[in-house]
Amino acid sequence: MISKFVARRRIRAKLVVLSTVVAGSALLLAGIAFWIYQSLLYVEALKRESSTIAQMLGDNSVAALTFSDRAAATEIANTLRAEPRVAKACLFGSTGAVLATYARNGEPRDCPPVTSGVTARFTAHHLLMFHPVSFNGDSLGSVYLEVDLAEMYGMWLRFGIISTFVLSLATLFAMALSSKLQRTISEPILHLASIAGQVSGSGHYSLRAVKTSDDETGQLIDQFNDMMAKIGERDRQLQRAQDELETRVQERTQSLLIEIAERKAVEQSLVNAKLAAEAANAAKSGFLANMSHELRTPLNAILGYSEMLEEDARATGNTSAVTDLQRILFAGRHLLDLVNDVLDISKIEAGALQLHLETVHSHDMTKELVATVDPLARRNGNRLEFRVDDGGFIRVDVMRFRQSLLNLLSNACKFTSNGKISLTVSRAVEGGKEMLRWDVTDTGIGISDEDMKRLFQPFSQVDSSSTRRHGGTGLGLAISKRLCSMMGGTITLASTIGVGSTFTVQMPLVDPQ
Ligand code: ADP
Repeated sequence: MISKFVARRRIRAKLVVLSTVVAGSALLLAGIAFWIYQSLLYVEALKRESSTIAQMLGDNSVAALTFSDRAAATEIANTLRAEPRVAKACLFGSTGAVLATYARNGEPRDCPPVTSGVTARFTAHHLLMFHPVSFNGDSLGSVYLEVDLAEMYGMWLRFGIISTFVLSLATLFAMALSSKLQRTISEPILHLASIAGQVSGSGHYSLRAVKTSDDETGQLIDQFNDMMAKIGERDRQLQRAQDELETRVQERTQSLLIEIAERKAVEQSLVNAKLAAEAANAAKSGFLANMSHELRTPLNAILGYSEMLEEDARATGNTSAVTDLQRILFAGRHLLDLVNDVLDISKIEAGALQLHLETVHSHDMTKELVATVDPLARRNGNRLEFRVDDGGFIRVDVMRFRQSLLNLLSNACKFTSNGKISLTVSRAVEGGKEMLRWDVTDTGIGISDEDMKRLFQPFSQVDSSSTRRHGGTGLGLAISKRLCSMMGGTITLASTIGVGSTFTVQMPLVDPQ
């Protein structure tokens, strides 16, 4: 209860209350001890004095008791008037009979039954004492005294009043003194508390408490100041790090913005370049398509007229004209092939080539193909071998697929002399899919690894000397590869210089319809 009350007070009030309570309690305890000691002294003194009075009364009454002289005994008893503390007295004879009584101011004169020996007993208001009377060893009777304790109570009352007064004064004095002295303890603590409050309110770690003593509160202030210094230093470091971070973030953001702007510019220029390239490509494809078309019309007319003239020359037996006209026809047909190739590749690149897909059996087209290629093979002294390990249905544009295979076979014939050309049809599994595969193998000049990488690009040929020797535009493989891939197939190549090449076409097998 008190501790709760004290706990809620401010430190000043606590110190005043504590020192006052301690001082008051000490004084109270001292007063109680003094009171007890005084009371014991008084009681002892009273007993002693009462015993002396009883002794004197007994000694004076020896004669009256010896002769049972009541009048003398009463006279002697009445001498007790000189002792105002004695309220009542009785003189007993040796038989225990009351010989004389004394009472102060009309109090009742009844006597208690006699007891032997010296006895002293306290009641609430009196000390009751029996004292034997003897002479020369003979017991003559006894004296009974009732001694009033009012004087003791009066003394207690005075003591109580004085000590209450003194205690109150001392408590007030202690209160005044402690309220002065407590400042030496409370003021540094209150000062520290106020500085701590200011620091937490303002966030200024530069504030310091002022040290006024070297005791524990002084040490507390030193440690507080030290702690503030450390916190302040850390706060500064943190601020510096934060500032640095902010600057770095700003710089990074700036450089990122610049980078983004640059990338956007590059991206835009790439888009523009792509658009320009696409436009150029479209223009090129358009030009090639138009040009090829425009070339084909007069070329067909030239070929038609040359054939007619050749027939006429044969009919008239003009053999030299027949030879010349055959040369014109050969060159014209070759030119037509070239124009057709250019038209095809430009259509493919423009995405304008239409395929007419149908499901066919591999046998149907392969046989026909062999018949076409056989004369070509013979021309260079080559032997054509045809082997069918397996067959199946594929879904292709028959004309375009035949064109691709024919290109591979005619290349094999073109770049092989007095060797062997073989066409093998078989099945294979590629990426979990069942495929039909055509291997066109020759024992010709072969292709280097370097050349193989760019062979399927349009207009690419191994070297200019071979072009000169064999003719061609470098478009056949590019067209074949694109056509096959448009039909879901692939063309791959394996070759060794001087040994020969194998071009492999693979098309997915389909169910017959
Ligand atoms: P081209 O009309 O020039 O023959 P292709 O695209 O069909 O065009 O062939 C490109 C080039 O690839 C040829 O010029 C040739 O150098 C090389 N080539 C193609 N097939 C073979 C082969 N079977 N053996 C060696 N070289 C080949």
